[in-house]
Amino acid sequence: MASRATGREGGALPGKVLLMLAPSALATLSNRARRRGRRTILVSATNGKTTLTAMLADVLAATGLEVVHNATGANLRSGIATTMLQAGRRGDVAVLETDEATLPLVAPDLQPDVIVLGNLFRDQLDRFGELEVLADRWRETLGALDPALVTIVYNVDDPLIAELVDAHVARATAIGVAAHVIPFGLADASVGQAGLPHAADSRFCRRCGEPLAYAHSWVGHLGAWTCPNGDLVRTAPLVAATEVQLDGLAATNLAIDVAGTSIDVRLRIPGLYNVYNAVAAAASAHALGAPTALIGPALGEASPSFGRFERIPVPSGGTITLLLVKNPTGLNEVLRTLVDSGVDISATLFALNDHIADGRDTSWIWDADLEPFLAKAGVVIASGERAAEFGLRAIYGGLDPEGVLLEEDLEDAMYRVLERAREFTEHGHAYALVTYTAMLKMRAVIAQQGWARAYWANEPRSKSKSRRARTKARR
Ligand SMILES: [Zn+2]
Repeated sequence: MASRATGREGGALPGKVLLMLAPSALATLSNRARRRGRRTILVSATNGKTTLTAMLADVLAATGLEVVHNATGANLRSGIATTMLQAGRRGDVAVLETDEATLPLVAPDLQPDVIVLGNLFRDQLDRFGELEVLADRWRETLGALDPALVTIVYNVDDPLIAELVDAHVARATAIGVAAHVIPFGLADASVGQAGLPHAADSRFCRRCGEPLAYAHSWVGHLGAWTCPNGDLVRTAPLVAATEVQLDGLAATNLAIDVAGTSIDVRLRIPGLYNVYNAVAAAASAHALGAPTALIGPALGEASPSFGRFERIPVPSGGTITLLLVKNPTGLNEVLRTLVDSGVDISATLFALNDHIADGRDTSWIWDADLEPFLAKAGVVIASGERAAEFGLRAIYGGLDPEGVLLEEDLEDAMYRVLERAREFTEHGHAYALVTYTAMLKMRAVIAQQGWARAYWANEPRSKSKSRRARTKARR
């Protein structure tokens, strides 16, 4: 089947060949590893799955487990097969980032011990109703697994996900099995907003069709919701973020209640949406029996994934921060974090490409709330193949036409934004909001200049990584 725009095949060739030769290879590899005691976790979400998977891999490695992880983000069937193939017999646990549409294709073969369901947002190519289709596929996926053998770690603040997990629990109960589920979410109304944003992706109860009532929401439609008819209720999260304090772009301080034990975390990855990733990682580690005391320090060590609030020092002074954007909700959260942090955004570029991995349809930029950002930035360099469309969106959003600096070439745009940072900001910090292929291109230029490690070298600290690195070095 055609993959959705977000699925990535990078580094997936060996797995692709393997699956062509032996279509049942995933099940075979997985069974062999399971007999040796390796456990499997599948992590899926529209937004944040790369960061969440990396955080979880770091936390589990910190507890002394040997972690197998598709760190390059190859999250389709072929990429997962490649990871399994390269891992061979080693590893205590496989932490696998899984594309949303791929989850139903791999779960039956992998028979995961834990499935982490992070969130479902509208992505670039999705049309009205597609989110529900995806939720239905996830529901069928859970329905085909033995509820006694799998633990579902899920975001209870996402009503679409809460509903399908509720159905999973009901199905298990009907056959006399107690389903293992760990709901996670936020529990600090002070960082939420009252009600639901007007552009929320999901606002109706899937059972009765009535609009859900929201006391408050944290990120898009993730919030404290309830069905007015009471046929679906948000259960209290077992693992929850409390006392969240956003400290600009530097960090977020929070407490996470893990099944009654509170841990303090200073998360060095900014943004409220990354609080969700941290809580999800804590809940998933808890599901695997990780000691609670080790979870906080390990999360504090987690660093941004490739291109996600990744701040790269530039030798001539200053920094460039890469911010991957790919759909309205993700873009809104990046913009909100930038604006609310109070940083100087006088030197900012927006690179919009329209390759398959970016989403061919770029109309999603019209659905995002760009206005507060544009008002604060005043000037934005528009880059990428669809630079002109972004420029139009910016002017429509109230930016003075003279504030749109068109520079289609990404490399030129990068040097121009760094120049602006030196000229117009105190500390020389530049920000680059980039779609997926624009991020890869810019990251390649940065690696070429030697400012940061190349893509393949950017893997989390884990035992599996260091072993792989040693193997590479020996060759
Ligand atoms: Zn209802």
